[in-house]
Amino acid sequence: MCGLGRSAAAQVSDLDPRIVKLVASVSEERLGNILRQLQSFETRNTLSSTTSTTRGVGAAREWILREMRGYSPKLQVSFDTYMVAKQGRITRDLELRNVMAILPGNSPRRIYVSGHYDTVARPGGQSTANARGPATDLGEQSATPAGTAAPLDNLAPGVNDDGSGTALTIELARIFSQSGIDFEATLVFMCHVGEEQGLIGARLHAQKAVAEKIPIEAVLNNDIVGNDKGGNGVIDGATIRVYSEGPEDSPSRELARFVQRWGGRYVPSHKVRPMARPDRFGRGGDHSAYNQLGFTAVGFRESRENFTRQHDVRDTFEGISLPYLAQNARVNAAAAATLALAPPPPVVTNERGQPQISRAPSGYDANLKWTAAPGASAYRVFWREAWGPDWEHEVLVGSVTNLVLPHMQIDDYVFGVAAVDAAGHESLVSAYVTPPRTGTEIKTLPPKQ
Ligand SMILES: [Zn+2]
Repeated sequence: MCGLGRSAAAQVSDLDPRIVKLVASVSEERLGNILRQLQSFETRNTLSSTTSTTRGVGAAREWILREMRGYSPKLQVSFDTYMVAKQGRITRDLELRNVMAILPGNSPRRIYVSGHYDTVARPGGQSTANARGPATDLGEQSATPAGTAAPLDNLAPGVNDDGSGTALTIELARIFSQSGIDFEATLVFMCHVGEEQGLIGARLHAQKAVAEKIPIEAVLNNDIVGNDKGGNGVIDGATIRVYSEGPEDSPSRELARFVQRWGGRYVPSHKVRPMARPDRFGRGGDHSAYNQLGFTAVGFRESRENFTRQHDVRDTFEGISLPYLAQNARVNAAAAATLALAPPPPVVTNERGQPQISRAPSGYDANLKWTAAPGASAYRVFWREAWGPDWEHEVLVGSVTNLVLPHMQIDDYVFGVAAVDAAGHESLVSAYVTPPRTGTEIKTLPPKQ
């Protein structure tokens, strides 16, 4: 960073007091109450019974719906329902219901905060699956129902996996809808189902978003974010991992950098650790369902996992650290609020998808062009050495759409630009990257006789 003192001062003034207040309103007590309630359903397995009002996935989704409906008339809470045919780990034709709360903004651009409310427990849980050999959480060892069409009603409390991400999502629905802040982007608080059967609920929603051209700008997915004590005894309640798929300047990587930058500013007591890979070995999460359909999405994961409390009857409230879960909720709140108040990211490519970067005017300069983002009053240009993960330098420029950095060799740096509004809210960074080249097939002749 050039001029540390100056940029540190600028960072303090960049904080929006409304976001500071929002982040401070995350309640450990409420998170705890939500988790106890989720545990009380005994199982939330996607394949469990829907007839009881107190037990199983049907009771759980009704409770989540009613809970979020109570927060604010501004919040549009509904089931996001699909009929799914028997296939793979879905053992019978099934109605799936994500629970979705929309807080409309001034723009249809959407920012998601999500978790999955469904659970699973198998004999031996995830610790046995890990010990068996190749890391996997695939369900070949699933407990099978009595008959193929019978509900799967064995105990599966799932308080951390993924009651934690669900409680975080529900709590953020409350604080955002009660904040009184007029957000630019539309916020969506999404409790997915069918995650344990192969990211089914997330995949179906992402497919619908593609079909209906719903502009999902970013997904912050939280899955296993409430435990700070590793099963090996190592404790870490001060950091959170954020996984993102590559390549290195993909939009999902920019989202991870954004969470690190803005989460770190609003919640300096909690360290965001970006992970330059889609997820942990052999493990999956709903963010990948969005990635697979071209959306920008990252996965939050606690830093030290206890595998004896995953996919296991021991995944109970006792395994949760509320202070840790609350810190993770604050980081999510800071990132989602900043994104939802910021302009959309500027477009740095031309109509042919090529980055608008050149060596003009001298032939040895860095000449960056971008298309104005609606609502932007300034732009922040970032760069770093072409070997390295984090932005190293930044400069705020006015309401312009071009910047020349003399004598900067464009081949030696990665450049990016973010849109900034009058109050300092910053968008995701759009990076100048060359799209992958497929190469040309060379025609050859038969060998000479
Ligand atoms: Zn999970």
